[in-house]
Amino acid sequence: MRYISTRGQAPELTFEETMLTGLARDGGLYVPAELPRMSDGDIAALVGLSYEEAAFRVMRPFVGDSFTDAEFGDCIARAYAGFGHAARAPLKQLQDNHFLLELFHGPTLAFKDFAMQLIGQLFQTALARNGDRVTIVGATSGDTGSAAMEAFRGLDNVDVFILYPHGRVSEVQRRQMTTVAEANAHALAITGSFDDAQARLKDMFNDFTFRDEVRLAGVNSINFARVLAQVVYYFTAAVSLGAPHRPVSFTVPTGNFGDIFAGYLAKRMGLPIERLVVATNQNDILHRALSTGDYVTHGVAPSISPSMDIQVSSNFERALFDAYGRDGAAVAQLMDELKQGGGFHISQGALEALRADFASGRASEEETSAMIARALSDMGELLCPHSAVGVHVAQDFLGATPMITLATAHPAKFPDAVEAATGIRPALPPRMADLHARPERMTRVENDLHQIETLIRKEIAA
Ligand SMILES: *Cc1c(COP(=O)(O)O)cnc(C)c1O
Repeated sequence: MRYISTRGQAPELTFEETMLTGLARDGGLYVPAELPRMSDGDIAALVGLSYEEAAFRVMRPFVGDSFTDAEFGDCIARAYAGFGHAARAPLKQLQDNHFLLELFHGPTLAFKDFAMQLIGQLFQTALARNGDRVTIVGATSGDTGSAAMEAFRGLDNVDVFILYPHGRVSEVQRRQMTTVAEANAHALAITGSFDDAQARLKDMFNDFTFRDEVRLAGVNSINFARVLAQVVYYFTAAVSLGAPHRPVSFTVPTGNFGDIFAGYLAKRMGLPIERLVVATNQNDILHRALSTGDYVTHGVAPSISPSMDIQVSSNFERALFDAYGRDGAAVAQLMDELKQGGGFHISQGALEALRADFASGRASEEETSAMIARALSDMGELLCPHSAVGVHVAQDFLGATPMITLATAHPAKFPDAVEAATGIRPALPPRMADLHARPERMTRVENDLHQIETLIRKEIAA
């Protein structure tokens, strides 16, 4: 299995190389040169399997020779052993023909654990085998960072640095990063927004001297291995509602387009998905782009669903690559326009291709709060604000085809917004009850590449 860059100018890599590299050297994102297919028989054979067995079957073809069956199986087993639910990703009925896929039973209470726990194990296995050491740097709007610190803390061959926007993550998110005690894990609070953190991360990857010196590796959803791990729960959820014999639709609370892109991959692999609905909060660049064809950044307005407060949606590049017939030069041109002028226009052909797979909607702040309240009163369900954005948008797409909305975080991760909407303050699960008593450790940094690189050099030399 070979991986190619969305900008067409970087070397082809194996799965292991792609995973350890993150961003391609031409600034693009890696995608499989060809997608493996799951036949109807392959999909039907997933019925009744454990999550781990299904994960092995869905992901195995992507991994190629990078891991043996035994190594890969062991990594999957270790990744999900710490989850607080036997099904890992249980499906719950919410309304008529509307289901909630609970993705918040991992150690940091958000869906990011599905991918991060697995790539922690895969990194450890690959690096230990090769005797290598890497520096992982991630940018987070809150949940990626906590999931990464949790997955990589204490690993021998890895230092992990997480950039998060100072003052713009919830207290639970912050504490899940700043209370990690292991010396190889570092929380960096940057002045600015998530987009600033992500931009500095990209700058580090494009600074080849620094990148090679510290052996930089990325675990943001630009890392294809992350997206791959998320493909699995689209299969398990659809199969439990009758796939391959009955199609389903998904609504996905979206920021960086990573999670919904995993759904798109599942569809391309052969899973019968009728609609993939992009659900955005008031930071609605994806909804506007799919509605008008103009992808134009407006600056981020902080919301009660902070993990989706994003205007430069990295993984959208992967969808554009396919929509433009895998023309890397065309994608490079669009990304250049975005960088120079803050936006680009999607060609008519590409827009039609995107609309064939993706529908979209948005939820305002008021609509999100109202949905949290209504979900509790009418459906008996306490939703996190991100999941509420999804459930709100899904209302416009309910019908004969079962709709599955992804519940991306546990309500206790965002207790202020949930309490404001319902009067109920959701409690953390017992295993995290002492989070507010643990000591915090973090470093404040300015939105300045040189300062951040100097700090990372100093810490890894220490
Ligand atoms: C990261 C995150 C999202 C957005 O996921 P993307 O893959 O960036 O689209 C939504 N909800 C929660 C709780 C998240 O942590």
